[in-house]
Amino acid sequence: MTFQRILIRNGCVLTLDKRVGNFHQADVLIEGTKITAVGPNLSAADAEVIDASEMIVMPGFIDTHRHLWEGILRNIGTDMPLEGEASLTTALNTLAAAYRPEDAYVGNLVGLYSALDAGITTILDWSDIQATREHTDAVIKALDESGMRAVFAYGYPWWKDPDEHQEDWIRDIAKKCFSTKDQLLTFALAPHGPEITSFDVSKAQWELARELDARISVHVGVGTAGQHGKLGRMGQAGLLKNDTTYIHCTTLSEDEIKMIVDTGGTVSLSSTSEMTIGYGMPPIQRFLNHGLRPSLSVGAETNMPNDMFTQMHSLNSLQHAMIFDRKLAGKRNLPPFMTSRDVIECATIEGARANGLLHKTGTLTPGKEADILMLRTDRPNILPVNDPIGAVVWGMDTSNVDSVFVAGNALKRDGKLLSVDLDDLRRKAYEVRDYVLTKSGFGLPEI
Ligand SMILES: [Zn+2]
Repeated sequence: MTFQRILIRNGCVLTLDKRVGNFHQADVLIEGTKITAVGPNLSAADAEVIDASEMIVMPGFIDTHRHLWEGILRNIGTDMPLEGEASLTTALNTLAAAYRPEDAYVGNLVGLYSALDAGITTILDWSDIQATREHTDAVIKALDESGMRAVFAYGYPWWKDPDEHQEDWIRDIAKKCFSTKDQLLTFALAPHGPEITSFDVSKAQWELARELDARISVHVGVGTAGQHGKLGRMGQAGLLKNDTTYIHCTTLSEDEIKMIVDTGGTVSLSSTSEMTIGYGMPPIQRFLNHGLRPSLSVGAETNMPNDMFTQMHSLNSLQHAMIFDRKLAGKRNLPPFMTSRDVIECATIEGARANGLLHKTGTLTPGKEADILMLRTDRPNILPVNDPIGAVVWGMDTSNVDSVFVAGNALKRDGKLLSVDLDDLRRKAYEVRDYVLTKSGFGLPEI
């Protein structure tokens, strides 16, 4: 069997795999869907050669929590808090109820292509828009069409009670679309956390995930609702395991944070949302104190930008600010500062771990899938490059994203997305956006 071979040549290669190392100049060989070699001066006679001499080559970014269906609702909630009157939650309640399957489909497409454009190769779609079976089919179709590596995290509707057949729908879709894990799309369950439903309902949803051998992704410690020890009760009942990613965790107690760590859980922080909307203080230091590094996520584009550069800046600044604040107050024995290397690993390795995909992606390790990002270093915003890791974390933005490969497949090259008709996508986005606004009666902000 012959594979397509691509040789990415003479790039500054950040494998982020300590055993393989990083290189100021090296090559990456892709054969079929996989990386087969990394190192200087590789030869591959019949390979397509891509010149990366003005590039940083690194693993694609990994987002562990995005409500992709909200793609058509971008920036509608920038001045809305999470709680209280005129809150984002109230707005989304109204808007979600108006969604048809085609609206969720286009919302997903918009989010997926913008994620790819921003250098994200794997995304967890926190898809809490499952009003009918047709909604599920529609968003899976979008995930499939995008060519991205994605975790479809099936989320229960929250603006109304679940359908009496919801559990059957979940079993059916798990069987129909996710009978193997050897594919770009994998399955997870996004149950209601114990803070927004009863203990028994939450427990039943978590048990269904385990029956289906699906990972769990759950919002916990969210604002006021997170302050009542509900996760702790789940923990005491033995429900916390290493198959679960906990999102936000901002208002959990110290005992609950420790339960997550002790049971091998993973964490997803969307620090921009958490700080801006009122979830509570991002618990970055609380997890670092226990040796747990979080993954990063955009969460919702109703408020936040679509890229991981912003998340890296936000997390790094916040952690430093909290330590410097203590230092200026005369405190001693302070924890270490996160470095750029720590932060870039949160956006890649920890993302892969939280999505249950570290064996496939997250580093440029020979044998892993070829999920690769090429970042331009010849742009005026970044030259001359003196510290490649610092340059990615602090100097670059989405304008540096030149090429994106998922499983060896080029989805963006020379700064342009391939295989998407952007005119058609734009037309559809406005069409369904207008429908959802009219149907829901939601008015856009005055300017
Ligand atoms: Zn969320």
